[in-house]
Amino acid sequence: MKLLFASSNAYKIAEIKGILPLGFQLISLKEIHFHDEIPETEDTIEGNAIQKATFLADKMNIPCFADDTGLIIPSLNNEPGVFSARYAGEQRNPDDNMDLVLEKLSTQSDRSAHFTTVIALYIHHKVHVFEGRIDGTIIHEKRGTQGFGYDPIFLPDGSDKTFAEMSVEEKNAMSHRAKALEKMMVYLKRIG
Ligand code: IMP
Repeated sequence: MKLLFASSNAYKIAEIKGILPLGFQLISLKEIHFHDEIPETEDTIEGNAIQKATFLADKMNIPCFADDTGLIIPSLNNEPGVFSARYAGEQRNPDDNMDLVLEKLSTQSDRSAHFTTVIALYIHHKVHVFEGRIDGTIIHEKRGTQGFGYDPIFLPDGSDKTFAEMSVEEKNAMSHRAKALEKMMVYLKRIG
């Protein structure tokens, strides 16, 4: 089965390609020669995932899915949340975003956090959503060079490595995105 992934994020594509079982083929936006921005203007993670998945689906003849992720930090009123990509400004710079999180957390004792991913799948003219979550802690400094976004400051519970110190395989064994994707795969296998 071919699945169009409505994202041009190369890190996400690599993570998802590492999880998709045999028999499923990920089609990227590049492969369909789509190079524009997909609108992401909703005010919830689920709303954005649905918006992204449905944007192209109607024009395409294959099932289409999109993910939207937020880093949730309870002691910062659940920020950055739906604003994770542009937390420190429209330049969408991961270092600026992490610096802002570290600065805001410097006066907080509770550094717990979680990532939540919602995957929206548009298939047979209907949308289905699947959620994945990983709990962890925001450490005091950036560690590691792998991954993307907030990976260098996120230490998953039970791990001594940040996401940015893990290989794609290690991150996929526990990540928010992998958990949501596994639920989507169970659904796709069930409907055949
Ligand atoms: P998106 O809208 O799903 O692309 O996610 C919004 C922002 O969350 C991204 O720009 C990243 O800063 C961050 N993010 C998403 N997924 C991850 C991840 O797996 N690790 C670290 N940060 C992530």
